[in-house]
Amino acid sequence: MKNIPVIMIIFGGSGDLAHRKLYPSLFNLYEQGLIHDNFAVIGTARRPWSHEYLREQVSDAIHETHDQVDENEVKAFASHFYYQSHDVTNVEHYVTLKKLAQELDDRYSAQGNRLFYMAMAPRFFGTIATHINDQHLTGSGFNRIVVEKPFGHDLASAEQLNKEITASFDENDIFRIDHYLGKEMIQNIMPMRFTNPLIKNIWSGEYIKNIQITLAERLGVEARGGYYDTSGALRDMVQNHIFQIITLLAMPEPKDLSSDSVHQAKQELLKSLIIPTPEEVKKNFVRGQYLGSDTTFAYKKEPNVDPDSTTETYVAGKTKFTSGPISGVPIYFRTGKEFKEKKTRIDIVLKHINNPYGQAHSNNITIEVDPESKIYITINGKKIDEPGIRREDLTYVFSKEEMAKVPDGYERLLHDVFVNDSTNFTHWSELKRYWEFIDAVEDAWQKENEAGNPEIAQYLPYRMGPKEADNIFESPTEHWIYE
Ligand code: NAD
Repeated sequence: MKNIPVIMIIFGGSGDLAHRKLYPSLFNLYEQGLIHDNFAVIGTARRPWSHEYLREQVSDAIHETHDQVDENEVKAFASHFYYQSHDVTNVEHYVTLKKLAQELDDRYSAQGNRLFYMAMAPRFFGTIATHINDQHLTGSGFNRIVVEKPFGHDLASAEQLNKEITASFDENDIFRIDHYLGKEMIQNIMPMRFTNPLIKNIWSGEYIKNIQITLAERLGVEARGGYYDTSGALRDMVQNHIFQIITLLAMPEPKDLSSDSVHQAKQELLKSLIIPTPEEVKKNFVRGQYLGSDTTFAYKKEPNVDPDSTTETYVAGKTKFTSGPISGVPIYFRTGKEFKEKKTRIDIVLKHINNPYGQAHSNNITIEVDPESKIYITINGKKIDEPGIRREDLTYVFSKEEMAKVPDGYERLLHDVFVNDSTNFTHWSELKRYWEFIDAVEDAWQKENEAGNPEIAQYLPYRMGPKEADNIFESPTEHWIYE
């Protein structure tokens, strides 16, 4: 593999994401020889750490995520790390940072290549982008920036942030990361859809009755109540992860696998996304909040949450497209906290077809994304010793050995940034469309709140969310497949 010279600057170098995901992923890339001699990483945060202390942190992060490591490798890897105490709101600190980046560029022959990673609270993204620009932090080689989620709070703030970032970076160099796009089973959607004639040929409204997407979380808001109360399930999960999954399921076949062609196919589809009216929001969406149990708080009693909060910890909704292979097919989605289990799952529900047996079971294609990785297709056969039809699963499942080989989403996506492949990142025009949809729902809810009659279903914790979500289906023959 190629050794890519670069100086990487991580804003938020003492944070949770850097420790749990970025350092271990970079180490894995280093071990595979993708980043080798000509790279250095500057970790920045406010704390007064030394280079040595950051290296210890990096080494700890690797030990925490790897069973066995070569200590010499860890040491050699950690020696590429440097720490710069830096308050992102202080302009002068960017001058020091720039000096260090230039020094390291010379020492590591990094050819003026810079990779910036915003691993901080999103309220700082705009400030960092502005100061990268006004303090000229970019190098003379390539300049790429990775932006964590959420990218904006609504369309207006996302547009503002985009303006601040595009002052220094071209669209092609902005990597808006959505770690769902790095997941093995999400990356399996395209090959599954486009390479098998059985599946490719039924991918239409003629055979697909509906599609259902569930992103279930087992945990409540925990210590993040203050932040979560300003966000909610729609912004936190639907705007990014769920919409990316929907797009991959509904887009037309790209003409090839290049990043440009994949984004083109997505954008073509998204032009026909139906933005809901307030009446449609009322009819097709359910928002909810979890209740308490003997051992857990109700959402409104969680620390740092407004006791009169209208923020949803659960949302179910429906969407449709007016073009693309599954034009007109309802796509139902739901996500929330305190489900009975953590699971990400996609069900493609096939229509009944006329047949001489009369009542046969409906068949589905299910993709389990987390925690297991599998695809199963139900098929019908005859019962062995009595008349009638039975349903069986044909399963494509990963072995333990295969699972062990699957890289973490962050490792995969960081690799993509190094090799400049933006296929699995969110393009601005996609993000814009997602926000238009989310804003329409949020605006309708806001109006209900202001009118004093918000319909917020209260649901029991550790089940499947509010029963009201059973009423969003278009016909009485539809229901949630995963129950
Ligand atoms: P965190 O709170 O653990 O880390 C934030 C970092 O910012 C720390 O290093 C902190 O010292 C630093 N910081 C705060 N104020 C600063 C200032 N004024 N100047 C300089 N540094 C300052 O946050 P996190 O969990 O690592 O999340 C970072 C980003 O990654 C967020 O956008 C989050 O949405 C995203 N993300 C995190 C995870 C995860 O697993 N932690 C997963 C997906 C996305």
